[in-house]
Parts: sequence; C-alpha cells; structure tokens
Amino acid sequence: MRDWMGRDLHYLRVSLTERCNLKCIYCREENAHCKAKKELSLEEFTRLMQVFVALGVTKVRLTGGEPLVRRDLEQIVRMTAGFPQIRDISMTTNAQGLADRLPALHAAGLRRINISLDSLDPARYRRMTRGGDLSEVYKGMEAAARENMPVKLNVVLVRGENDQEIDRFIALARAYPIDVRFIELMPFSALGTRDDRRVPGQEILERHPELHPVAPHDVSQPSQDYQADGFAGRVGLINPISHKFCADCNRIRLTSDGKLRMCLGDDHETDLRPWMNDRRLAQVIRDAVYHKPEGHCFAHSYHAARTMNQIGG
Ligand code: SAM
Repeated sequence: MRDWMGRDLHYLRVSLTERCNLKCIYCREENAHCKAKKELSLEEFTRLMQVFVALGVTKVRLTGGEPLVRRDLEQIVRMTAGFPQIRDISMTTNAQGLADRLPALHAAGLRRINISLDSLDPARYRRMTRGGDLSEVYKGMEAAARENMPVKLNVVLVRGENDQEIDRFIALARAYPIDVRFIELMPFSALGTRDDRRVPGQEILERHPELHPVAPHDVSQPSQDYQADGFAGRVGLINPISHKFCADCNRIRLTSDGKLRMCLGDDHETDLRPWMNDRRLAQVIRDAVYHKPEGHCFAHSYHAARTMNQIGG
C-alpha cells in the first residue's frame, strides 16, 4: 500500500488489548480503567488480517496494553504466522509472565521480542511501572536466550527518575549482544507532556562521545544505532521529538477496538468494525492508508486524545 507521499506501508502494529498488568508512570494515569469488552476477538483479527495481507502487509508487531494478558495470544500468533506473506512477527511486552509462555509463542511463530525495561534497580522498576517485578524481566530474557530469539530492550528515559542509569544500560549493550534503545518521552499521559522530564537523545551522545553511528539493521527502523569498540550489542536512539523520522515511516496501526490509526502522533482514526462484513472493507482501508498524515503532531502542543496503552505503543 502506498500513501499520497509514496511511502510504502507494509508494517502493521496490532494492539491486542488496552489492558495491562502494569501502569507505567508515563503511559497512563494510576486510576485509569481499561475496557476488555470492546476488544476485537480472534475471529475479527483473523478477518482483518486476511484483508491487510491481501493489501500488502508483510510485517506484524503485536502490542497493547500488554499482549500477554490475552489468553488467546498463542492462537493470535499462530493465525498471523499462518499467512505465508507475513515474513516477520514480533511482540512488544513488559515480560511479566513471559518466560513460561515463550516456548509456545515461539512455536506458534513469534520471531522477535522487544522488552520494555526502564530500570535495572528493582525498587525503581517497581515504582516506574507501579508494581512490576524486575526478576520477571530477567526470567523472560533468559527464556528468550534459551529459545535463541533476538531481544531488544526499550528504555523510556524520564529525567529525575532513571536518567542516572544511562551508563548502566550502555554497559549492557557493551557486554551482551542486546540492542538497548533509549526512547524519548512522548506526550501521552500527564507526565509525557512535561518537556522538562524528556531526555533528548543528543544528550546521551554528548555524555558518550565514544559511541559512533553504525548502519541500521533496517532502513525504516525508528532508531539511529551506535556502537563503540568492543560492543557486543548496540545502543539505539529513538528520538521522535528531537529528530522526526516520519518521512521514512512504513507503519500503520490497528487498535484493539478496531480503529485503523495511521500515525501514533495524530488522533485521526477510521473505525473498521462497521465494515467488517462489508465487501468494501479493503477499499476503506486503502483510502485511509492513502491519507496518512505527513508527520506526527508532537511539536504542536499535541496532547493525545487516548493514552499509549489505548492506542498501542
Ligand atoms: N505493555 C507492552 C510494553 O510494556 O512493552 C506493550 C505496550 S507499551 C504501551 C509499548 C511501549 O510504549 C513501551 O516500550 C513503553 O515504554 C512505550 N511508551 C508508553 N508511553 C510512552 C510515552 N509517553 N513516551 C514514550 N514511550 C512510551
């Protein structure tokens, strides 16, 4: 599928649920409630996936909320992997309860995982996630190593919370073949709108002049990658605010309540549910995709109508 700018959009990020077993401080508010009732069923995801694949989607990432709270996650992975056109299935997860389920997910067709990990200190991790257990993350990483599955770590930096751990995270990428990606805080939830709490990627490079740019694994990946001598892994900077990468975007998003969203940082959505049993479904998707916005609205005092867990991070 191509949009009006000629961008080739073949990467679908599917949010399976708004629900999450954690409440990260920058993702949603402490007292927020999530509605499971509106979630697409396995059958509805299957119907939509058939159409997306027919339209040219070849790469799928499962996200949420937390994908692991869906009991039918293994079935959703197997269904997605059943399309020979899908060449890559990955998942973004907080890894709470991942270890036990990873062998079955791998067998079902999951190929790669991104684990969100904002602190290597158990107490800070618990505080930033409002209840998370750091040992679960380590168990999940060990399970991935046993399964020989590539892992990337996603670290959202929040000034005054975890920015003092930047060096520790970089040391991880030096010692292990793991990509550690620092993500700039984006304006979702009250904390996300605080410019004073954002750590621009450039600041990390100034503190670590030994890091030099390396070629990306994939030209459309959101991170700019860096290494230094002796590094087993990479340091990635995802700088949506300070370094917009919309011109190379190849992504579209499906929310767990059936909305097609063309951009994380633009609230325009198309509700696909009314079209689910209509033969014009493919045309509705194609039209929406064609009108993908040129770029996100983060620079324009944007405050998202929905929180990250509702959209799918
Ligand atoms: N529950 C899964 C997880 O924790 O990875 C998947 C969903 S989570 C919403 C996806 C990613 O969005 C996580 O890496 C999270 O850190 C990131 N995220 C959430 N809110 C954010 C914000 N305000 N700014 C930047 N990243 C954010």
